[in-house]
Amino acid sequence: MAGLPYIVGNWKMNGTRAMLNEVRAIDRAAGRFPRVQVAIAPPATLIYRTRDAAEIIGVGGQDCHVQESGAFTGDISAPMLKDAGADFTIVGHSERRTLHGESDGDVQAKADAAIAAGLGVILCVGESEAQRDAGEAESVVAAQVAASCPQGEQAPEKFSVAYEPIWAIGTGRVPSVEDVAAMHSAIRAKLVELYGDSGTGVRILYGGSVKAENAAELLSVPEVGGALVGGASLSAESFLSIVGAAA
Ligand code: PEP
Repeated sequence: MAGLPYIVGNWKMNGTRAMLNEVRAIDRAAGRFPRVQVAIAPPATLIYRTRDAAEIIGVGGQDCHVQESGAFTGDISAPMLKDAGADFTIVGHSERRTLHGESDGDVQAKADAAIAAGLGVILCVGESEAQRDAGEAESVVAAQVAASCPQGEQAPEKFSVAYEPIWAIGTGRVPSVEDVAAMHSAIRAKLVELYGDSGTGVRILYGGSVKAENAAELLSVPEVGGALVGGASLSAESFLSIVGAAA
């Protein structure tokens, strides 16, 4: 498996300056887990302050525009994220795909723009409940990987895939370890098909209702190289229990 376990908190549209106390607590404690790579993706309004408040952990955006600048009211470009102190950005989260109508092509263009700006990328894929019930989960996710992963020879070193079944996000439901293992192995096969040997080095994270209670089991599944954590990343205490489970 590629690199250290990577535990990333996605704060979504949560957090004002008061949350910087959680950042400081996470950052202080992260020093006790040198074998785990820890990062937070706060809302864009907090990226600069989060970078300032943290010495050890990575800081990321949650999305980026494909253009570097221009007449795109409300959007934020990858070079702007970088300038604000981000190390990486999430792209293709299911909330962006569903609520903002982002296609695989849009997600791929965003991933390419982020890498061109010097950011790492966490690229999210995942099936709906109806697709899983129809037995289409692996083919749907493999198609998303094929059509939304970044392009170029250097790309595999710059990004991770996050497998996030849509029906597991924020619901308290998680797939069986067998289903997680099967999906991560299917994603790995697709990455190798796309990138050759370099595809073996791409980390594949699991996301969807990861909590202190299930983290150790999920992280022990073959090919699970870390976790993308939503709700449980909003308090330092619960997030650090997940970091501890990865150590
Ligand atoms: C997410 O939205 O990326 C996520 C994994 O959320 P949660 O952990 O709350 O299910």
